[in-house]
Amino acid sequence: MSAEILDGKLLAQQIKVSLRNEIEQIKLKTGKIPKVVNVIIGDDHGSCAYAKSQIRVADEVGIDYSLLNYPQNISQDDFISEIKKLNDDKDINGIMIHRPVPSQINYKEIANILDDNKDLEGINVSNIGKMMLGETNIIPCTPASVMEHIKSTGINLRGKEAVIVGASQIVGKPLGLLLLREMATLTYCHIATSEAGMLDDHLKRADIVIVAVGKAGLVNGSQLKNGAIVVDVGINKSENGIVGDVDFESASKIASYITPVPGGVGPVTVVMLMRNGLEAFKQQNRNIL
Ligand code: NDP
Repeated sequence: MSAEILDGKLLAQQIKVSLRNEIEQIKLKTGKIPKVVNVIIGDDHGSCAYAKSQIRVADEVGIDYSLLNYPQNISQDDFISEIKKLNDDKDINGIMIHRPVPSQINYKEIANILDDNKDLEGINVSNIGKMMLGETNIIPCTPASVMEHIKSTGINLRGKEAVIVGASQIVGKPLGLLLLREMATLTYCHIATSEAGMLDDHLKRADIVIVAVGKAGLVNGSQLKNGAIVVDVGINKSENGIVGDVDFESASKIASYITPVPGGVGPVTVVMLMRNGLEAFKQQNRNIL
């Protein structure tokens, strides 16, 4: 058996077309388009590279995108004032604060100062709570990307065994809420699962496996159930370039569907950020839509 590859670039392209169409319709009706800003402190190379891909995707879907760059030594108080200004700016629909931030900045505090309705990544306390209650369409981008990949297989998740390896605040935990919404039976695995020697037991019965850890080769084909859907979120540098957390060669012989790294979850994640920009716009403009 050889798995079908879930092509993130193709999926991203399809979602971009639908976003662009919706934004064009909104523009025709209201004369407005969503406006988002990405805030970077200093000149972190990774942040700047990610911002470049955001600029490209925003342009493709028709979102007004600005990049704001603050000095590396900005103080917490000054940064908070800047964020509050963006919160108050009626023309801005969504704000993203890029990580890493310098050590003098308390990211958690900043994330929770962000206006809930402008929290482009859906990561502040209020939005995570609303997501748990099913009261917002602004969903953290990487979990949203994973769900798009799973849905693209056409699987009905109801009653299926889903195993998430990695339970971080930004990926694993919120992803579990999205899978629960679809009535999957859910298991979270984390470092203690591996320490207890239980990872294989959980993986072996999983219809859907999502790995988001940051350890190359953590999961391989021998640990998977025949026909499992495998979504690899991991990004690891190796001698052969960027690789995921799943050993692609062995896993693709056992899985029914598998995401590659690179070219799987990543390209859709940036599109999900723009989808959140559109959702934020819609939440803020209900009266004119
Ligand atoms: P974190 O480091 O925040 O979380 C890693 C999680 O994996 C933790 O829950 C940790 O458990 C768990 N873990 C660590 N070791 C093991 C192990 N041996 N067995 C089982 N679980 C383990 O990482 P992130 O969630 O931020 O990122 C995970 C990966 O996904 C990274 O490679 C990152 O680069 C990538 N990523 C990719 C994105 C994309 O769009 N493609 C976006 C975001 C991240 P514990 O908490 O108990 O220590």
